[in-house]
Amino acid sequence: MRAPTISDVFQARRVLTGHLRPTPLSSYAALDATTAASVLVKHENVQPTGAFKVRGGLNLLAGMASEDRQRGIIGYSTGNHAQSLAYAARQAGAACTIVMPERPNPSKAAAVRALGAELVEFGATMAEACEHAEKLAAEHGSRLVSAANEPQLIAGVGTTYLEVFEQAPDLDVIVVPVGGGSGAAAACVVAAAVAPQCQVIAVQSSASPAGHDSWRTGQLVSRANRTVAEGLAIGSGFELTQRILRQHLADFVLVDDETIADAQWVLMRDAHTVAEGAGAASMAALLAYPHLFAGKRVGVMCTGGNASEAELRTVLRPAAAA
Ligand SMILES: *Cc1c(COP(=O)(O)O)cnc(C)c1O
Repeated sequence: MRAPTISDVFQARRVLTGHLRPTPLSSYAALDATTAASVLVKHENVQPTGAFKVRGGLNLLAGMASEDRQRGIIGYSTGNHAQSLAYAARQAGAACTIVMPERPNPSKAAAVRALGAELVEFGATMAEACEHAEKLAAEHGSRLVSAANEPQLIAGVGTTYLEVFEQAPDLDVIVVPVGGGSGAAAACVVAAAVAPQCQVIAVQSSASPAGHDSWRTGQLVSRANRTVAEGLAIGSGFELTQRILRQHLADFVLVDDETIADAQWVLMRDAHTVAEGAGAASMAALLAYPHLFAGKRVGVMCTGGNASEAELRTVLRPAAAA
């Protein structure tokens, strides 16, 4: 599988113009004080689907031949990938089927249905949902869209990093949360081409460390997958994204779910921003490893804001008590 290049990202930007507005990159004095760094938050939580993935979905659908589009697309996802595909399919007039493990986040399931996709709840785990999606795709001849081994998704997602480096050409480091790795891979492709001074640091939950361990060991490994942060809940490394990360990534850190919840609160308090767990993982890296970031200009990717009500109540409870 061919890795996307910076030209593919520029091409994706042309495709996305007219679909999506650039998202803000904002600083907050309170956040700088909390972190002892100069922090710039990239607000992908304000995308129409509440997460950055919509960039990839729109780019992928735009690149499909019309006869393929007519057979529809199918994806398996805990939520944001699903919303991205459903949103993009509706824009392109294509049918979309999403397989989720049973008992999904109710707000994400409702959002997928509201976007007109067919939602199939199947299996206890992502792996079972994936297998079922493969079977349905084979039966219907529809295009199965992987969460990460997709050059067009990575190229689409890369457009957020073009925006970041236009908005702040002088970043020292950018912190990117990793599930399947499309976001971090895209950050690597774009930073290497237009901001080579900027280090890309990836972060994952220590409760779902497969991407981190794959990068450290240089092999695609499977690991326990127990994080409550849905966008990060992936149990194995992906070939394409790991290949890109091995070339360009400066560092890869792990944070625990408790620190992610703390970071959600910090983003609410200091940046008036609602982030879901995965969307706060970059912020959590700054809380957990302050020495890596002190005094630097740091881009923090707030990748998504689709937190359920239960999740937000949990995040606020200890903060309110403290
Ligand atoms: C999917 C997702 C991630 C992880 O992105 P990958 O490209 O799968 O590594 C991070 N944050 C949010 C909000 C997500 O939906």
